[in-house]
Amino acid sequence: MAELRFDTRKIKAGYSPADNNQAISPPIYQTAAYDFRDTEHAQNLFTYKEAGYLYTRVGNPTVNYFTERVKALDGAKNGLAVGSGMAAITYTLLNLASKGGTILASPYLYGGTIDAFDRLFPELGIKIKLTDAVLDPEKLEKELTDDVKAVYVESISNPNAYLLDIDSISDAAHKHGVPVVVDNTLATPYLYRPFEHGADIVVYSATKALTGHGNLIAGLILDNGDMSLYTKERYPQFYEPIVMLKGKAPADIFADNFFIFRATLVYLNLLGAALSPQDAYLGIIGIETLSERVAKQSANAAKIAAYLESLPAVEWVRHPSLKSYKFRELAEKHLTNGGGGVLSFGIKGTPEQEAAFLNNIKLFHYHVNLGDARSLIVDSPNTTHSELNEEEFVLADIPKNLIRISAGLEDADDLIADLEQAFSAAGLL
Ligand SMILES: *Cc1c(COP(=O)(O)O)cnc(C)c1O
Repeated sequence: MAELRFDTRKIKAGYSPADNNQAISPPIYQTAAYDFRDTEHAQNLFTYKEAGYLYTRVGNPTVNYFTERVKALDGAKNGLAVGSGMAAITYTLLNLASKGGTILASPYLYGGTIDAFDRLFPELGIKIKLTDAVLDPEKLEKELTDDVKAVYVESISNPNAYLLDIDSISDAAHKHGVPVVVDNTLATPYLYRPFEHGADIVVYSATKALTGHGNLIAGLILDNGDMSLYTKERYPQFYEPIVMLKGKAPADIFADNFFIFRATLVYLNLLGAALSPQDAYLGIIGIETLSERVAKQSANAAKIAAYLESLPAVEWVRHPSLKSYKFRELAEKHLTNGGGGVLSFGIKGTPEQEAAFLNNIKLFHYHVNLGDARSLIVDSPNTTHSELNEEEFVLADIPKNLIRISAGLEDADDLIADLEQAFSAAGLL
């Protein structure tokens, strides 16, 4: 059969009813552990001679169906589902920089990621350098010294909807032997597939638009199967023997999958942020409507952005659908399925008026998630990005009056009417 297209894969990939008593909906393997058939089976599982399940912290069939489905959507070769987006990000970067070194990171990032960069990684001897050189590959090349273990970016950034040029970032990084890690949470594979643009590793918060219902916390790490960048010189951790592997190294066991293998063996196994089978099941069901949801969210966000741009009380609006968008050319080339559900804007008014506006919103939910079926609104500098210091706010281009919207699946006219009445109540119309 010809390779199945995206919308067919999102319904079918990675799960076969024939292997599960013909059940069309994947069973939830609600089990902590799995019996060994005999001592030889136990030894084979423990030494990776045979694939199979032994304990749900490190592997579960329902979790595996979830991983396989997202792998198929992104065109990934290897993948690992974990208990949250933060676990996916920290496990990935720890796996690359376990011997120390520097991570060159985009400043246009999720607040929790910046928080981990400020507080967690330096404690572990890993340096983080936030650099706007991700917007300028020539400048980036100058920063790619021998000490750098990864370039870390968001494809579409939170909360500003910056769109980065992953092709040119990857070209620059690869010239210096450094892999590029892309957080593709805001885009989802429906809008953008980073492996097609040279990315080496893709991470997700599957909590957001990927699964889309605000009812679970999950994350994923995916790679493209090319292990050639992980050289012995720069990444000795993949070539060092591990006692549990009977003295073999991760690279000896899985020559084309040792990145994910080591992440599983060391970080998922020992730090333990496992995804529950129940949440993996909810994720699989959510993904069945990925394209339909993200297309509608993108359309709703575009309508809201156009409305906001028409108001004198709004100072600026950022969304890939707008003519005024900073990365317009790149968006026209790469975001052919839509600009995504997230937009941001700034109110021309006093902080009291901004507070009155938010306090009068009725239909949008005021909380910190995004990508939900419900529309959400939040004042990011005071909440999702409140951990940034002054320098980081400037570097990240987050004005203090930024309000972030994540458009849901409601009728756009109702959402616009809600914004209108809140502007009016705040004396801004
Ligand atoms: C929410 C989010 C994360 C963190 O994911 P959790 O599932 O909440 O741990 C990481 N990156 C981005 C872009 C996010 O929006």
